[in-house]
Amino acid sequence: MAETLLEPDEPNPVTFDNETGRSVLFLTCDHAGRAIPRRLDRLGLPEDETQRHIAWDIGIGAVGRHLSRLLDAAVVLQAYSRLVIDCNRDPKVPSSIPEISETTEIPGNRGLTDTARAARINEIFRPYHETIGGALDRRAAAGRASALVALHSFTPVFKGVSRPWHAAVLYNRDARLAQFLFELLSGEGGLVVGDNEPYRVTDLTDYTVPVHGERRGLPHVEIEIRQDQIEHPEGQTLWAERLARLLPAAYSEFSRR
Ligand SMILES: [Zn+2]
Repeated sequence: MAETLLEPDEPNPVTFDNETGRSVLFLTCDHAGRAIPRRLDRLGLPEDETQRHIAWDIGIGAVGRHLSRLLDAAVVLQAYSRLVIDCNRDPKVPSSIPEISETTEIPGNRGLTDTARAARINEIFRPYHETIGGALDRRAAAGRASALVALHSFTPVFKGVSRPWHAAVLYNRDARLAQFLFELLSGEGGLVVGDNEPYRVTDLTDYTVPVHGERRGLPHVEIEIRQDQIEHPEGQTLWAERLARLLPAAYSEFSRR
């Protein structure tokens, strides 16, 4: 029997801002939110664990919204925590609904039934990706070009190891847009920029770029910003303004080749 996860008064999983924005750039924030459905009882975690980076990409939702306004670009954001279901993972991979994240065990994700798993996919993962896919389909049908920009943020210290990069570009099969953006970011001065580190795009650790970027043949880049850079409004504004300058420049380099 089907199981219902979200109650009617809980947040919609998907926010789609500026759908009619004129920019070629199409923004996504898979890990913008840290909401947990009431029925999941905070996944058995103490409150502070649900506010850490393991639950969401700190700061990126604000950067994405600001960038959307500056570029006049569409942006799709997920409201629910990646601990409920990771919207940047294929639901078939075990880390889609993680039983452990960094070093924190997630009691509410242990021994899930197939129906419980299906409810998370159907009510949180699917509407998010159907929104992205539907919007990209409509743009293509209208003869509009799209370039996918997947926005993420990463923790400054992971399992006790400090990360030197202020930001990074990630890619897998198509590095073109990422490489132009990498060069522009590296030219900013004072920034340590990761080229496919501390993460890289793969089919097992990503979903948005492989499915909506690579498979559609759209130019794309995954951007990671270190969380201490964007945890406060000043840094969010600085990064939104920086990317609003550099992303269109990277896209025009891409279009010229
Ligand atoms: Zn992320």
